[in-house]
Amino acid sequence: MNIAILSGKGGTGKTTLSVNLFSYLNKGTLIDTDVEEPNSHLFLKGKLIKEEGVYKKYPLVDDDLCNYCGKCGDFCNFNAIIPAKKKVLVFQDLCHDCGGCSLVCPTDAIKYIDKEVGKIYHHQIDDNKLFLYGNMTVGEVSGVKIIETLEETTKNEEILLIDSPPGTSCSTVAAIKGADYCIICAEPTPFGISDMRMVVELLRAEKRNFGVVVNKYNLGNSEIFKYLEEEGIELLEKIKFDREFANLLADGELLINHSEYFTNKMANIAKKVLGDKND
Ligand code: SF4
Ligand code: SF4
Repeated sequence: MNIAILSGKGGTGKTTLSVNLFSYLNKGTLIDTDVEEPNSHLFLKGKLIKEEGVYKKYPLVDDDLCNYCGKCGDFCNFNAIIPAKKKVLVFQDLCHDCGGCSLVCPTDAIKYIDKEVGKIYHHQIDDNKLFLYGNMTVGEVSGVKIIETLEETTKNEEILLIDSPPGTSCSTVAAIKGADYCIICAEPTPFGISDMRMVVELLRAEKRNFGVVVNKYNLGNSEIFKYLEEEGIELLEKIKFDREFANLLADGELLINHSEYFTNKMANIAKKVLGDKND
């Protein structure tokens, strides 16, 4: 079963929820798909067992073979290859690695070369737990390829937690692609509710089952609970803000190692979402 953990914005406690829920489970795998700013590894102390590069192909045009017919530019939907009068311009960041331009090129002038767009790090946590996170190369604009590789690598896991990128970008859509259930982590503030609404719309459009964990519920008002009730959205748990929690997190500590309250919250969420799969 694949469970994605999302939030409308950064800083809601999504990673705290991901790493603590994962650590509470008896078995399973966690992937951190927030490849622009991964931080789950700051809390999970495992053994690095593998490091791999993620590559994307992009076209390289041989000027000696090109006749500037323009067919590659006509084919590309992303304006990633634009034939000018005496030069074919390639915009690597816009290229979606579809391979189409070389297929339509009449002179076989287009070759593809590999570019490393990021890395994936595999960690063994316990005998029966794996943790993987991706990290995008500085200067890259899209982490989708890395997220797709993370998901492909772990597609046969019995229990998979997916720490998704915040917001509703292409990266988030890629992260929830294989999710059977989604947990939205939200804060009870006006901005928190507004950002959560966008995630709700995305999940409804993608036809995903989901529930909400309200974090720091004692710092906001009751609007978020009214919203959930009106929309018929399941409230999985509400978790209080505690200064001691903030101090522990700042030290890279897992809250379930220090707080019975927090452990009980994780147990309740795991029971609601996984049923007896964690037994
Ligand atoms: S399709 Fe091939 S020959 Fe035509 S402009 Fe593009 S690279 Fe050059
Ligand atoms: S590989 Fe696809 S996306 Fe990239 S430049 Fe060629 S046609 Fe465009």
